[in-house]
Amino acid sequence: MQAVIISIGDELLGGVSVDTNSAYLSRRLAERGIVTVRHETVGDDAGRIAVAIARAADEAEVVVVTGGLGPTPDDLTRKALAAAMGVELVEDARSTERISAYFERIGRQMKPSNLNQAMIPAGAEAIDNDFGTAPGIAAHLGGARVFVLPGPPNEMTGMFERKVTGRLPSAGVIVRKNLHAFGTGESDIGERIADLMARDANPKALPAGRQVGTTAKGGIISIRIAASGAAVGEADALAEKTADEVRRRLGEIIFGQDDQTLPSVVASALKAAGLTLAVAESCTGGMIARMITDTPGASEYFLGGVVSYANSAKVAMLGVRADLLEAHGAVSEQVAAAMAEGARENFGSDFGLSVTGIAGPTGGSADKPVGLVYIALTGPGGSTVHRHIFSGARNIIRRRAALTALNHLRLALRSL
Ligand code: ATP
Repeated sequence: MQAVIISIGDELLGGVSVDTNSAYLSRRLAERGIVTVRHETVGDDAGRIAVAIARAADEAEVVVVTGGLGPTPDDLTRKALAAAMGVELVEDARSTERISAYFERIGRQMKPSNLNQAMIPAGAEAIDNDFGTAPGIAAHLGGARVFVLPGPPNEMTGMFERKVTGRLPSAGVIVRKNLHAFGTGESDIGERIADLMARDANPKALPAGRQVGTTAKGGIISIRIAASGAAVGEADALAEKTADEVRRRLGEIIFGQDDQTLPSVVASALKAAGLTLAVAESCTGGMIARMITDTPGASEYFLGGVVSYANSAKVAMLGVRADLLEAHGAVSEQVAAAMAEGARENFGSDFGLSVTGIAGPTGGSADKPVGLVYIALTGPGGSTVHRHIFSGARNIIRRRAALTALNHLRLALRSL
């Protein structure tokens, strides 16, 4: 089942207010298996609002309109809905009573214009507003259910929860899953699961279907899966089947799902394996230690770390040989390996993980450019050193280096 959401108001078009109502409604409708196919914003113009409502009712089974129900001449939604339905506005006696009672209760004199709010299209039903004066409206237009709610978010959300959800047509359920991947780009992933991501030419087919999309944030690519069905079991089975196919195609670059993060997955894997970690960080300045200790209970598997920024600290704290530093420089394969060994030995851990690199913006050279990072890992499965060149601003390079280091550890733990 599909929905179109229309927000009304010159203030939204002018950028004075931001349309948060539509985002809220999309989320709430989706939880009930109703897929929003379009958001539309229309200014305070009765003709345009009427056209928008008629078009939406043609397109979707559910139309939700917010705003333009106030008592002032620029509040035109009632009139526009009546025009779209081809009927007159008539007084809703119950709403007149409720509006009069509201003003009595708050001790303010009611203006005649307030009673305009009790006018609704003939054949429609008023929706009581317990949070303000303007009643909402529930109507049928063609094959669609149309709900009109006030613009102020506190009134709109309260009315939607209490008065609209019970009136929504039953539409089955949508189950969502988010798989997270690290180690490749969004376009690569897009190519490997292109057929799963293909949009149905007829989106109305979705109620029995699925949608797959990707989002990239901070180097993590999330593969969003939504599956719908008549009942939770059916939707869940389709979501899981799709997730399995994505996992099969993408293999070990998928590190987790839903609330899992790369550090939390590494933490769980260390804990499950009963192994411990120590880190030696240079350009990441403690980020890896910070990420790994974000998960509570880290003392079980994280012994500690050294932020060895200066060469002297690499020598004194990690036992890196001065001649290695002199011969190869601090940002080198040899020094990275010696840092990881030093962390492992000094802390007595199973794994030693180190990072040394040039986060920029200065300090780069032709053979050692900004973004060059060496990551070394030593542990039960042997020792590795990886060379990476990350691009972007300093904080992006640092974060990417920390996540990549954790990812090397994750992959090493998988292959133990
Ligand atoms: P009122 O009785 O207060 O006039 P109304 O139904 O006529 O209610 P509008 O006048 O359209 O609503 O909007 C009132 C205020 O509600 C706006 O100034 C804005 O701050 C907020 N608002 C309206 N629409 C939205 C929206 N789509 N998203 C977020 N806020 C909104």
